Amino acid sequence: MLQENINEGDLPIPALEGEKLDYPLANLTSWHIGGKAERFFLPASIEKLSDYLKTLPAHTPVTWLGLGSNVLIRDGGIDGAVICTRKCQELEQRPDGTLYAQAGLTCAKFARFASKLGFPDAAFFAGIPGTIGGALAMNAGAFGGETWEWVESVTLINRHGEFIERTPKDYEIGYRTVKAKHPQPEEAFVSAVFRFPKGTNDGMTKIRDLLKKRSQTQPIGTFNCGSVYRNPPGDFAARLIEACDLKGYRVGDAIISEKHANFIINCAHASAKDVEELMKTIESSVWGRFNIKLHAEVRILGKGNNT
Ligand SMILES: Cc1cc2nc3c(=O)[nH]c(=O)nc-3n(C[C@H](O)[C@H](O)[C@H](O)COP(=O)(O)OP(=O)(O)OC[C@H]3O[C@@H](n4cnc5c(N)ncnc54)[C@H](O)[C@@H]3O)c2cc1C
Repeated sequence: MLQENINEGDLPIPALEGEKLDYPLANLTSWHIGGKAERFFLPASIEKLSDYLKTLPAHTPVTWLGLGSNVLIRDGGIDGAVICTRKCQELEQRPDGTLYAQAGLTCAKFARFASKLGFPDAAFFAGIPGTIGGALAMNAGAFGGETWEWVESVTLINRHGEFIERTPKDYEIGYRTVKAKHPQPEEAFVSAVFRFPKGTNDGMTKIRDLLKKRSQTQPIGTFNCGSVYRNPPGDFAARLIEACDLKGYRVGDAIISEKHANFIINCAHASAKDVEELMKTIESSVWGRFNIKLHAEVRILGKGNNT
């Protein structure tokens, strides 16, 4: 099943050459929900990505996709070009001890590679079923670790296909947020350099323990996008949703997990509209009962069927 493949970091990559038109995106997301991309491109390397951007008409909007484990793609699909980084997966240890990883590498592979080299602080990446690019965009974190704690530098690509080097000083970094201090539209991460201290713990054992802990608390093996909401300060979104008696509540085929109330599961053929309606119910219930506004962690992309 897709989810298990994501967790192993070995998600199937479509065998595609060149740009595709009207390309269905649902199977490229962990929710298995969403419409089509007007244009879709899966570059085999960051050089091919640069060539593509140089030829893409200037007015065409660009949307970036990693493993699709934190996006809700709406049913009307995405206008413009969707670029999926999944094939850009280079990974190496550099002579100065830092680790270089390209945006499309899965966090799971990165965690194993770093742990085997003696960097147990990287083990938390095994709990994030996305790519390095997605983790940089989200400041993804798990089990007390966060992506940007360990970043030394990043390389981005702009809309003209040019590469730009940045460091953490160029960003405001917070809980699941990363804001460029001088934002440039449609830039994306193509790689990062991480520096971890050498550790004495066994990183691989740590990974096994973390994954075991996660499978006890999360509905692993279902189609979901992880936590739908960020935790509000001093509280947990899951606790608030559960306290509203919403576990098991459903709209169409979208259902609030019985195991973890901050997870919405696509149990068969849920549409993005089902999920969005369910989210409205969650948000109004939590607001009505606790006066707390929940903020989505999941990124909603594209347009509805009627827009
Ligand atoms: C079962 C499950 C458990 C999860 N647990 C956690 C967890 O413990 N902690 C956590 O933080 N998250 C968790 N998530 C959410 C998700 O895995 C992370 O947010 C992850 O970092 C998303 O990576 P991705 O490659 O799938 O990004 P996508 O979902 O493809 O994209 C997410 C966002 O990042 C942007 N993006 C993607 N790639 C790039 C790029 N190269 N440059 C710029 N922007 C880009 C996209 O446009 C989108 O806005 C979980 C998800 C699932 C399904």
